[in-house]
Amino acid sequence: MRGNDVTLDNVSITYPNGFRAVHPTDLTVQAGEFFSILGPSGCGKTTILRAVSGFIEPSGGRVLIGGQDMVGIGPNARPTALIFQNLALFPLMKIWENVAFGLEARGLSRRARRARAEKLLDLVALGDQADKTPSELSGGQRQRVAIARALAVEPAVLLLDEPLSALDLKLRQHMRAELRAIQRQTGVTFIYITHDQGEALTMSDRIAVMNEGRIEQVGTGDEVYSAPATAFAASFVGEANRIDGRVVAVNGDLAEIDTALGRFRARNPIDLGAGDAAMLFVRPEAMRLGHTENGLSARLMRRDLEGAFLNLFFDAQGIELAVHVTNDGQVAIPADGAAEIGFPSGRAVILPAGPLARTGQEMVA
Ligand code: ATP
Repeated sequence: MRGNDVTLDNVSITYPNGFRAVHPTDLTVQAGEFFSILGPSGCGKTTILRAVSGFIEPSGGRVLIGGQDMVGIGPNARPTALIFQNLALFPLMKIWENVAFGLEARGLSRRARRARAEKLLDLVALGDQADKTPSELSGGQRQRVAIARALAVEPAVLLLDEPLSALDLKLRQHMRAELRAIQRQTGVTFIYITHDQGEALTMSDRIAVMNEGRIEQVGTGDEVYSAPATAFAASFVGEANRIDGRVVAVNGDLAEIDTALGRFRARNPIDLGAGDAAMLFVRPEAMRLGHTENGLSARLMRRDLEGAFLNLFFDAQGIELAVHVTNDGQVAIPADGAAEIGFPSGRAVILPAGPLARTGQEMVA
């Protein structure tokens, strides 16, 4: 099997009721890449997947797979296969027959189909389950059968729409590693849709962060986490402290922002200028205790011990600031909770004020 690249060239998608689910979008997924589209429910992830698989045509722009324009090419003629959240295996068929289902149309003999199914079941570590029926397998095993079935038709691009969301947490975490290994072994291009940042960060070569029909940032997990490009990306991926304000000065790569808690200096990747409304974001693990650069006075409200780490929650004039430190026995905060905290300029970022991720289900990894 070999992967193909997938390009969205100025693709926009408007549903018949007039709702524009995807605003004009350019995106290239490389051949053989594990690529995730990450965003909250309703942001347009599935709509993009439908356009790649051919179930809907874009209202504008082009979808190219392996360099070929897919206009007018239906789902069955595309080199893609799709896996949904609620997979449907045939309950009365054996596992290998489920996997081989798509091969019947290709005129392969029963023996050849079985051989191919067994090879794929080996790949997903179910080689010894070929003669069982779906009800005899666990949820995670069934999901692996669905993956084997999708791979049986030798797609160049596998489209996965939240395939793990029906599984329990432990199984989900286990399946992340499995999926990653299967993708590596086959070299097929995976486009993986999820609202779960943990999934996207652990599995993907690159991630597109999507919100309200727009891709806001594309990068490796590390890039998106360490160098968010928008307020939405900063607040959706990982935890972030936020302090609102206005840019007052720019020097080189850094800018200064005036806020209710004082004036702070941080990175300015988007080239904001003096006077711009802005938001400063800093990760809890980048925060420091004591008198530091970008210092401010705060009061400890709560401390959560997480074994090796301490998660401290401070209040600074009504703004909650989380500080994650290693639990080295050196953390001394007076009984009244008053403390100085701060952060290095290089570890904080100033971004244009903009829509934020809603807190809630999507924020939970
Ligand atoms: P989820 O994670 O909940 O599946 P999503 O990011 O995949 O969300 P889409 O299913 O792509 O989101 O939907 C994007 C937007 O388009 C939503 O606001 C949805 O209500 C709307 N939408 C989806 N299908 C249609 C349709 N057939 N007609 C009109 N609007 C639609």
